[in-house]
Parts: sequence; structure tokens; C-alpha cells
Amino acid sequence: DPPNSPIRGPTRIIHMANVTLSGLKKSFGAVHIIPDLNLEIADKEFVVLVGPSGCGKTTALRMIAGLEESSGGAIRIGDRDVTSLRPGLRNVAMVFQNYALYPHMNVAANIGYGMKARGEKPEAIQVAVNKAARIVALDKLLERRPKELSGGQRQRVAIARALVRDPDVFLFDEPLSNLDAKLRVEMRTEIRKLHRELQATMVYVTHDQVEAMTLADRVVVMNGGRIEQAADPMTLYARPANVFVAGFIGAPSMNFVTVTVGKDTHGPLLQLPGGAVLPPPAAFRAALSARLGQAVTLGVRPEHVQEEAASPQLKLHVDTVETLGAHRLLIGTVDKVVFTAQVPAGSTATEGGTAGLSLDPQHLHLFDAETKTSLLGPA
Ligand code: ATP
Repeated sequence: DPPNSPIRGPTRIIHMANVTLSGLKKSFGAVHIIPDLNLEIADKEFVVLVGPSGCGKTTALRMIAGLEESSGGAIRIGDRDVTSLRPGLRNVAMVFQNYALYPHMNVAANIGYGMKARGEKPEAIQVAVNKAARIVALDKLLERRPKELSGGQRQRVAIARALVRDPDVFLFDEPLSNLDAKLRVEMRTEIRKLHRELQATMVYVTHDQVEAMTLADRVVVMNGGRIEQAADPMTLYARPANVFVAGFIGAPSMNFVTVTVGKDTHGPLLQLPGGAVLPPPAAFRAALSARLGQAVTLGVRPEHVQEEAASPQLKLHVDTVETLGAHRLLIGTVDKVVFTAQVPAGSTATEGGTAGLSLDPQHLHLFDAETKTSLLGPA
């Protein structure tokens, strides 16, 4: 790699910026928010921490930034143990949800504020500010005040302010959540492009699984302060390790149906509610043979269900039909459990009626009914 900084030019030495969290802990009083977090983020990797509200993702990010003290464990960046370093010495830059811009300063002064505060030379500040502003397409707006900018432009100022710091690691805390849906999609593309151009390590927190899937090299799904699964987006979608990840990743959410393991002369079968039987995918045969007569949780995504009038495997009682243009969603219940099917726009299913369904055997997921973990074992 060239010892070259996109902002400061060819003189700066770029550090290896892998981030290692070992046995990281956080308690607020007697409440253990994060009991034992272990994560290795590779140099130049784009990792997204995603999970429901309160799962501890922001707290984990703030501990990496040094804005929150850890209650135990260690944080390393490259070859440095930064666990007890103050934020300014960690060489990380954080982009916040609320932008945190100075309202009385123009864009240029906002971007260059940190450099100025550190007493850097005005010429150096100007060069860095101009470069950063060009990268985020703000170079024509340097004289404006924050109130004269759109939400997306304000967020770009916040990103440019992180860029001029030329950090080893970029940390993003829900940076797009204050933007409208269209702008959010645009900024997502820009942040992805920024990562490609800067080749920097980035850790990004969001509660939005679509944002996580589209941005990340690797998605870390958190729940209750723990990592449920860390994998690339396609692995998370195709091989969720447990019911939590299966239900959290993908929209609309995966459906879950309790089935019983039976068998015939060819091997194990899945007995569906309503009486139909389904030969399981080959990968599950061994695990199912040990569970004859037991209940297991079958997972199937709405996009892997078809309408099937002649010999349906499941009967859906349709409560709602959502027309989305390209397709329709039939939302209702199977055996009293909520179930969604994604069907072609030409479907004639009606609200209050029933629809016969068949399941795509290539895309079935099976989980232990008690532990909720995949019968395939770890990916
Ligand atoms: P969100 O998306 O809602 O921000 P999160 O996953 O980022 O959720 P955190 O902000 O990390 O969650 O908070 C994790 C838990 O820690 C929450 O239950 C929260 O109430 C609690 N918590 C956070 N900060 C404090 C604090 N200063 N004192 C006490 N509890 C806190």
C-alpha cells in the first residue's frame, strides 16, 4: 500500500488499523450492558454493528472512541493498546447522528475546527479542508452556515470533519437516521464509495438491517450486549445461526412455523401444520434423524413461498393484501401464527380469504425449538 494519505498527501505514515476488542465489558451500576464482547476488525474492513434498540451497539462504539470508559477487557488499534487512552490520542474520528456542527461557523471553519484547535498552520488547514470538502462534494458551499444547508449537506460536513483528522479508524453512530428515506439511500452509496476510496477501517452502528446489509463487508448482529452472529451479508441471509438473526435480517421478516420430525422409508420428513409432509433439504437429514418425533422450528422467508392451489403445503388465512407494484404481500396466519407470503402482482388472493402455499425446498431453515440455534451448526 502506498504510504499516502488522501487528505494530507504523501508524507503521512498510515498505520495498520485493525481493531481488537477482547473481553470488553460495560456496566452502568449493577446493570451489565455488555458482559463479554470479543471482536476482531481487520485493517481496512467496513464492519457494521446492528441490533435492536438498547442492545449495546452505541456503547460499544463509544468505548472504541474513548467517549465511554470500559468496565473491563481491552481495546487495541493496530499495535497500540488504547484501552485507557483519552479519545484525542486514539487517532479515531467519530461521525455522530446529530452532526454536532457549530451553528455560528461556516462550513470551512466547521471542517477545520479540530485542526485549528490543535494549533495547526492556517495553510495546512486550508489544504486539508479543501481536499476533504472536494471528497464529499461541498467545495462550492464552504462559506455557508449549517442552517443554510440541507440535512444531507450537514451530514457531509460532519463526515468531512472526520476526514481532515485523517484517523486510523472511522466510527459512525447512526449517521443517516435523521435523513429522509431517499437521501439516506444516496448517502449510503456515498459512504460505501468513501470507504472504497479511503481504504480505511470503518465501524458503523445502525439499527437498520438494510443499511447494515448494503454497507458492510461484515455485519455484526448484536442482541442484549452479545454478538449473535458476525458474517458477510450473504452468509447472514442464507445461513443465519439462530432464530434471532434469521428474524432480524431480511425484510419482510422470515416466517417461523413449528413442525414435527417424522419419517418414511427414504428418511426424515417434516410434518407441517395441516398435515402435509415435506422432505427436508439434504443438509438437514443427519440432524433430523436424531430428532424423530420431536418439534423443530421451520423458517422460510416470504420471498421463498409460492402460491399453490392444487396441492398446497400450508394454508394461509389472509388478513391483509399489500400491493407493492412489483409484487404483493399476503399477510395473515398459518395455524394461528403470523405468516407473510410474497407473491406476484397478479395474485388474486383476497383479504378474508385463504391462499394455498408451497415452500421452496432450497431455501428452508431449521432451528432447534428450544435453543433456537440452526440445525446446520455454526456457518
Ligand atoms: P439505540 O439504538 O437505542 O441507541 P443501542 O444498541 O445503541 O440502542 P446503547 O445506547 O448502547 O444501545 O445502550 C445499551 C443499554 O445501556 C441501554 O439499555 C441503555 O438504556 C443503557 N445505557 C446507555 N447509557 C447509559 C448510561 N449512561 N447510564 C445507564 N444506562 C445506560
